[in-house]
Amino acid sequence: MAKVRLENIKRKFNNVTAVEDITFEIPDGQFWVLVGPSGCGKSTILRTIAGLETATSGNLYIGDLLVNNIPARQRDVAMVFQNYALYPHMTVAQNIAFGLQMRKVDAQVIQQRVETVARSLALEHLLERKPKQLSGGQQQRVALGRAIAREAQVFLLDEPLSNLDAQLRDDTRAELKQLHHNLGITTIYVTHDQVEAMTLADRIVILNRGRIQQIGEPQSVYAKPANRMVATFLGNPPMNILPGKYKNGTFLVESQVIPCPMRVRDALRLAEGQVVDLGIRPEDLFINELQTNKEVTTLTVEVRLVEPLGRETLIRAGLPSSSVQVNIQQAGAIRLCLGDRISLGLDLEQLFIFDATTGDRLY
Ligand code: ATP
Repeated sequence: MAKVRLENIKRKFNNVTAVEDITFEIPDGQFWVLVGPSGCGKSTILRTIAGLETATSGNLYIGDLLVNNIPARQRDVAMVFQNYALYPHMTVAQNIAFGLQMRKVDAQVIQQRVETVARSLALEHLLERKPKQLSGGQQQRVALGRAIAREAQVFLLDEPLSNLDAQLRDDTRAELKQLHHNLGITTIYVTHDQVEAMTLADRIVILNRGRIQQIGEPQSVYAKPANRMVATFLGNPPMNILPGKYKNGTFLVESQVIPCPMRVRDALRLAEGQVVDLGIRPEDLFINELQTNKEVTTLTVEVRLVEPLGRETLIRAGLPSSSVQVNIQQAGAIRLCLGDRISLGLDLEQLFIFDATTGDRLY
C-alpha cells in the first residue's frame, strides 16, 4: 500500500490542455474517486498515475518515490479498464495468474494466490472458462482478480462498472466497497456516475475542463458545493438554478419576488442590484397544498411534465422562461395535469446562491 501524491500535474496534447495544475495527496489505503463530465480529464490523470501517459510538467509520487520517469511496469500499480482487457485465449485462472508469472513468482505460490483471489471474488467455479464464456459481471470480477493477485500498492479503476446492467452495477459496486474494506489498498477510481462517486469514495475530486473544482468527503461536497458546476453535477435530478436580481433584500425571479433570508444578506452586500444564481435542490421544493402547516415562500409555476417513479414523483415546471424540477415524496397525494398552474413552496433554509459570472458560491 502507498500514498499517492500529484504536484501541479499538467498534460497537454499538442495545443489541447487535458489537465492542468492537478495537486492532491491520497493517504495510504484510502478510496478516492475522480468524477466529472466527459472530457474533464479523469482518464488522463489516472493514466498518468499508471504511467500510460507522461505528464507535460509536474511531479508524481507513489509512496515516497518520485515516479515521473519510472515506466508503467515498474510502478507497482494495477489498473482495471472499462473493457476489462482480459486475454481472450487464456482461462480465468491463467488471466489471474498472468501478472505473477511475468514476475517469475514461484508456481506453487501462484496457484495458492489464484485460489485465494478466486474465492474472495466467488470465481472458483469459473477458473477453467475463457472470458467469452463469462457474463459481463464475471469478466469484471476476473479483471479485478488479476489486479488483486498482483498485490500492487495502488489500484487504478477506470469506469469499471460502466458496461454492466443496472442491477449488476449496483451489486458489483457494493462488492467493490466491501473488497476495499477488506484489502485496504489505496484506490483511485474514475467515473462520470455520481452515485458511484458518492457511495464509494472516502474523498471525491470533482473535475471540470481539466481543473479540480473541489475535493472533499462526498456528503460535505454535496452540502457545501464550492461552485455552481459542483452543485449541479452532484444530485439527481440536478439542483435547479434560477437567475434572480438581488435588490433591497429580495430576489426578483421572472417578476416573482423571493425574500432573501436575513442570514444571507451579509454575503450579498456587493451583489446589490445585480443578478445572482439561486440554487435550490428538487427535494427542497414542494407542492404547497401538501404542506399546509408550513409558512413558506412560493413560486407560481406551470406543470409541464409529471413523471411518477413509484415512491416519488418528478415534476418539471415552467416559470415561464426558466424551468425547475421538483421531487415530491408523497406520490399518492398528487393529482396534477399538464398546464396546471401551481404554487411551489420553497424551503429558504436550503437556498444556495452563486455568482452569476464566476459560478462561485456566495452562500
Ligand atoms: P470521458 O469521461 O469521456 O472518458 P475524461 O474525463 O476521462 O472523459 P480524458 O479522456 O482524460 O477525459 O480527456 C481529457 C481531454 O483531453 C479531452 O478534451 C480529450 O479530448 C483530450 N485528450 C485525451 N487524450 C488525448 C489524445 N491522445 N490526443 C489528443 N487529445 C486527447
